[in-house]
Amino acid sequence: MFGRTPKKSDNIRYYDILGVSKSATPEELKKAYRKAAIKNHPDKGGDPEKFKELAQAYEVLSDPEKREIYDEYGEDALKEGMGGGGASHNPFDIFESFFGTGGASFGGSGRGSRRQRRGEDVVHQLKVTLEDLYNGTSKKLSLSRNVICSKCKGKGSKTGATSRCPGCQGSGMKVSIRQLGPNMIQQMQHVCADCRGSGETISEKDKCGQCKGQKVVQEKKLLEVHVEKGMQNGQKITFQGEADEAPDTQTGDIVFVLQQKEHPKFKRKSDDLFMEHSLTLTEALCGFQFTLSHLDGRQLLIKSSPGEIIKPGQFKAISDEGMPHYQRPFIKGKLYIHFNVDFPESGSLTPEQQKTLESVLPPRPVSQLTDMELDECEETTLHDVNIEEEMRRKQQAQQEAYDEDEDANQGPRVQCAQQ
Ligand SMILES: [Zn+2]
Ligand SMILES: [Zn+2]
Repeated sequence: MFGRTPKKSDNIRYYDILGVSKSATPEELKKAYRKAAIKNHPDKGGDPEKFKELAQAYEVLSDPEKREIYDEYGEDALKEGMGGGGASHNPFDIFESFFGTGGASFGGSGRGSRRQRRGEDVVHQLKVTLEDLYNGTSKKLSLSRNVICSKCKGKGSKTGATSRCPGCQGSGMKVSIRQLGPNMIQQMQHVCADCRGSGETISEKDKCGQCKGQKVVQEKKLLEVHVEKGMQNGQKITFQGEADEAPDTQTGDIVFVLQQKEHPKFKRKSDDLFMEHSLTLTEALCGFQFTLSHLDGRQLLIKSSPGEIIKPGQFKAISDEGMPHYQRPFIKGKLYIHFNVDFPESGSLTPEQQKTLESVLPPRPVSQLTDMELDECEETTLHDVNIEEEMRRKQQAQQEAYDEDEDANQGPRVQCAQQ
């Protein structure tokens, strides 16, 4: 009971397990999980508990729906959703589905090591407007990337001859030792700077004239990103094999992640649009009409039905005026309008006007009390309040009182919590 570390605030632990921030992109999560899962794989002598935790954290955070629930309500909400004991998937299944069967075997056969190294994916955020996502658009972007030198075909030398890097004895890695204290040293491994991890060097005379022995050269590339109608915030557009080239490496992808800017009028929820509209009390009771410029520039005329009354907070919807559905743009969601009703300022009605209103609105409830009963009541006065301000001040006072209490009784309070 005392040995267990208390859980951290409930919706951050999974991020801590993977060692990423709460704002980590799916790509960053993937990378963090890949690294940690290999390191902690029980076949490699890792801690099985830790491995299980990693799989669990990744299973939740890699699923946008589960991640949203977790961010909002924490771990317990997910356990409830899973039905009973919170049983998760087998961590080995998650590991396998991530790496592909046999893709990362530690069984000693060394199958994994002979595969070609895969280059890093390059991820860019691409800012788009809601209009872009409604109408579709294309954006031209100029990027610079490394490509294999055409002159030496990635060898870096004229003759193709290389020799072992003297800095690292051909291993590509160097170990440095740092003294941290009288009895403490830190050992660090890092990529050899002389050969940049390749383990090879090329003699000055033999270096390729075009890439100066670097094996790759920089190239400017123009990419045209097609943003299709109905695409979502966070959706990825991938250019396969367009990232930096390197010798003996399968080139990674360039990935654009759409990032929708806030729209002043519309909020989007999957294929539906939501907007707020304020009516005066007169409009709410007697009818209204207004125009709305839509995301494609069309002017929509929006009006109430004859005799219709709109209540404060009421929603109405217009079919087929939401967002186009991705890849089926002729199907559109709904446009929801949330109505606010602005009441007139208090005290702005004269007794005559009140009489006129009373003549058309439903009658006021009549007091059931007799004069004698009324005489026995106590009179009260209603006064105006700023409710948020008052509640905030009260909560603050309560918190301060609690903090003082906490300081004074630290010992016993801790004991109580552990029972
Ligand atoms: Zn070259
Ligand atoms: Zn080296």
